[in-house]
Amino acid sequence: MATSVAFFGLGHMGAPMASNLVKAGFQVKGYDPVTELLDNAEKQGIEKCVSPHQAVVGVDFIVSMLPNDSAVESLYLDEEKLLEQITENTLVIDCSTISTKSSKRLLASAQDKKLHAIEAPVSGGVAGAAAGTLSFMCGGNHSDVERAREILQHMGANIFHAGPAGAGQTAKICNNMLLAIHMIGTAEALQLGVDNGLNPIVLSEIMSNSSGANWSLQKYNPYPGVMSDTPASKDYTGGFMVKLMCKDLGLAQQAANNSQSYTPLGSLARNLYGLHDLAGNHELDFSSIQRMFQKT
Ligand code: NAD
Repeated sequence: MATSVAFFGLGHMGAPMASNLVKAGFQVKGYDPVTELLDNAEKQGIEKCVSPHQAVVGVDFIVSMLPNDSAVESLYLDEEKLLEQITENTLVIDCSTISTKSSKRLLASAQDKKLHAIEAPVSGGVAGAAAGTLSFMCGGNHSDVERAREILQHMGANIFHAGPAGAGQTAKICNNMLLAIHMIGTAEALQLGVDNGLNPIVLSEIMSNSSGANWSLQKYNPYPGVMSDTPASKDYTGGFMVKLMCKDLGLAQQAANNSQSYTPLGSLARNLYGLHDLAGNHELDFSSIQRMFQKT
């Protein structure tokens, strides 16, 4: 019988990740409160479930790709209480980006019940999710992380074990703080060039082959029309929403407060993204920060 997976959260990231598991031959049952997303998932071969409880019956793995702490805690611990319904044969893999506090609560609750759970937040964006090239930053017991490889390898190209519970989430927020900083810097530099008469395609090509090269510029260019497949060329739709970047930058600042670390650029990035969000851009892709620099 095929290995079975219950997948929670079929949004921008979850849908392509679950679809890759179907393509790899797993039996995938999906749940998302948004009916339209469930219907789309069904077209990709994912079995549609009407409740979280229906999805987890007898499965080998549970994967969740949810927006925030409250969604994760509500699903596993507080409202749906999924941890009370599963057995030690099921491995829970939470891929959401959430606080270390919340993630540690989930993993400790599982351990108290003699269950198995790891955190595995990801990097690589929607394109990486679709291509199956994500990086997973796992936190939890070594043996559980090793077991998770059976399915993570079909959704990602890199599987890192950062350390115990919380370590994967810490790695993720460090990464996303840096991502926000280089996205803002990239947008700022591109606009400076355009305002001074340069073609953004030519400038991107020059900087990509010079010391300004970075992921935001080369893989996720924020200037419309420079790359055909990026959210910037699709009115900033379909990527990593500004509101989720704001969440991650908030988590980075919480971590900095806890460790009394100085993160001046992370703090500035949080403020700039916060203002961009307040201006009504919460559902747009985070590369839309480019618009903050454009003259109207
Ligand atoms: P999204 O909002 O598109 O998807 C989240 C989905 O979770 C939604 O469809 C929502 O309806 C669903 N959901 C909420 N509560 C649920 C529940 N109890 N059970 C089942 N489904 C539930 O967000 P996304 O862009 O897919 O991001 C998901 C997570 O991945 C976030 O934690 C985000 O920070 C992280 N992430 C996103 C990206 C990206 O590029 N979009 C990249 C890396 C990490």
